[in-house]
Amino acid sequence: MINPVVDLHTHTLACGHAYSTVTEVIRAAADKGLAGVGLTEHGIGYPGSVSWAYFNTYRDIPREMFGIRVYRGAEANFMNLDGSIDFTSEQLRKLDLVIVSCHTDCLKPGDSKEAYTDMIVRAMHQKEIDIIGHPDNPLYPIDADRLAREAARLGKALEVNSSSPAARPGSEPQCREVLQAAKKYGTLLSVGSDAHYHLKVGDFSYSLRMLQEADIPEEQVVNSSMPRLEAFLKTHHDV
Ligand SMILES: [Zn+2]
Ligand SMILES: [Zn+2]
Repeated sequence: MINPVVDLHTHTLACGHAYSTVTEVIRAAADKGLAGVGLTEHGIGYPGSVSWAYFNTYRDIPREMFGIRVYRGAEANFMNLDGSIDFTSEQLRKLDLVIVSCHTDCLKPGDSKEAYTDMIVRAMHQKEIDIIGHPDNPLYPIDADRLAREAARLGKALEVNSSSPAARPGSEPQCREVLQAAKKYGTLLSVGSDAHYHLKVGDFSYSLRMLQEADIPEEQVVNSSMPRLEAFLKTHHDV
């Protein structure tokens, strides 16, 4: 039984379309018995979200609060098919945790599987990127086999996102494809609630059901234990 110890994907009211404060999110993670939480606010390319100054001031948020670990992170955006995202390498180096995802407000859907797979693979060469967020989005079709193979080679995790059924209707088949391919190559996976309200923090039910269905071993899930997560993040960040 996989038991994620850290929620690696959460949002706060700073992004303009979520409803809780940073403190409420951390408190909720602690109350649920998690060992940590990732603050992964939407990057600056997302309309209505924060500016770089928000991430640059993370220093005031302690890395330990209410007895749990706090990761100062971001959910960056793919901005262009060439693989460019809304953070510079220098900015990424200041973060503890980096997810990169496709969002319709930043990257228009409608291109080919090959184009989106090339884009993600290109971005995965950036050291500081840890996780590809919700690669199950059917608006951005991918070659799951190639994505999982390259992610395994480059040491990146593919996310199994618990908000996908609500936020990305019809994403289940693509999620299954990603999981099958990840199983084949031993690709690392991550689990996140993608909570936009603190009551959803630590809600991993959909992700756990999909992982179980695909019979994914615990060792493949980066946030299934604290030592495993710390070792994973150390491969991309200097902290
Ligand atoms: Zn997202
Ligand atoms: Zn998100």
